[in-house]
Amino acid sequence: SKTSPFLDPGLRTSPNTLAIVSLSRDNFQPVTLKQSTGAVDGYAEGATLNTRFGSFPHSTLLDIPWGSQVRASVVDTGSRGRKRRRNEVESEDTPTPSQDEGDDKATPSSLAKVVVASSGFVYILRPTPELWTSSLPHRTQVVYTPDYSYILQRIRARPGSRIIEAGAGSGSFTHASARAVYDGYPRNATDEKGKVFSFEFHKPRYEKMQEEIKNHLLEDIVHITHRDVYRDGFLIDGKSPEATAVFLDLPAPWEALHHLSRRKIQKGGKEDDNDGSWKSPLDPKQSVYICTFSPCIEQVTRTVTEMRTLGWTGIDMVEIAHKRFTVMRERVGVNLPSEKGFNPTPADVSEAVKKLKGDIRRTLDFHKAQQSRPDSEASDSKMDVDEQAPNGSLKPTPNGEGATEVDEEPTFLQGRIVHRTETELKTHTSYLVFAILPPEWDEEAEAAALAKWPCGK
Ligand code: SAM
Repeated sequence: SKTSPFLDPGLRTSPNTLAIVSLSRDNFQPVTLKQSTGAVDGYAEGATLNTRFGSFPHSTLLDIPWGSQVRASVVDTGSRGRKRRRNEVESEDTPTPSQDEGDDKATPSSLAKVVVASSGFVYILRPTPELWTSSLPHRTQVVYTPDYSYILQRIRARPGSRIIEAGAGSGSFTHASARAVYDGYPRNATDEKGKVFSFEFHKPRYEKMQEEIKNHLLEDIVHITHRDVYRDGFLIDGKSPEATAVFLDLPAPWEALHHLSRRKIQKGGKEDDNDGSWKSPLDPKQSVYICTFSPCIEQVTRTVTEMRTLGWTGIDMVEIAHKRFTVMRERVGVNLPSEKGFNPTPADVSEAVKKLKGDIRRTLDFHKAQQSRPDSEASDSKMDVDEQAPNGSLKPTPNGEGATEVDEEPTFLQGRIVHRTETELKTHTSYLVFAILPPEWDEEAEAAALAKWPCGK
């Protein structure tokens, strides 16, 4: 069967697969590409993506290498176009924006037709969990990339792992974990390795997730169950998922922890009678790594108490403080004395820069002349340190007389490289609590270990 575009998208875009359209740096739109089978929604070209950067018939997005830049098409929108032309003068290369949306229903004679390429453009990108997180339809709060990349490595998610996840919510974490456990081999539903067992108790969200997992061809990896995990735990049709990793993004993770045990145990740690029907959802032979994701410290406290009671070890908590840095050049080094002192106004700045350029030109000319003298000691000299002002810019001469525009600015004149953190709206996401549940150890396990490793005898 076809592999998910999230796992192996091939080299080029193809019909009926998901693509992520990049409209600008932080604006992504998921689109399932459709082969044209005739007019759709008034467009003769068939399915068309309308954006504020122009119209993109799917035919122009199909069978091209991932990462391609695609120019918008000007579409002749028939009656709707005539209406626009009445109202505004439009140049031939003005992209047709989404103002067509919501317009009157097109008659066959008014079907839109692509006539000429225009200047708006988008990039067409292969789907990745990161891009899906940035573009998915939000049904809940989601786990973002900085958090899930850290979580997945802490819970030891790797090709072949079996992960329990609850609740599924909008599926942001689900997609990232599906890629983490994928081992690169062709798969079918009966494969035991590399699985994500996802649980969601909200029916509409569960149904939407099911549909998305199917559309994204991830059904062989992600098994989604409609369940209240506080009440009913994590078995699948009475069988153990044998998970080695667990991620709980639930309002009350402590309510679910007693199901993630090796023995039948009640909430609060009281041993329960086992009539033999109880099974652990965990891998009996390996340590299990868990992460719970909670926005409030009170939730953390309750979770940690329950973890301790149930025998989890190595408990710790982390908060990911994600910052994005913008690196740019900033025009500085114009700290010149002026009548108004050392804090020049913008007018002073441009004047100072002009002076500085003149100084530099004269200094460069001077050094060039020096170097061209055959007897000069200065022939291999660099710019003298003494000629630099304390902040690293060149020391100015008293006036800028004879200053000429330097055609190509030396790089340092284009400004000093600085970085700033962007104002992040999402500063606090959640507290991540990690813990480990070691396998149970008994005489049988000890004997097996010694048999494997005789030097221990
Ligand atoms: N991790 C998800 C993501 O990245 O998109 C977001 C999860 S959302 C914050 C929490 C989800 O847990 C909600 O969709 C909610 O319906 C579900 N949930 C809450 N209590 C639950 C329970 N007892 N059993 C199963 N799911 C539950």
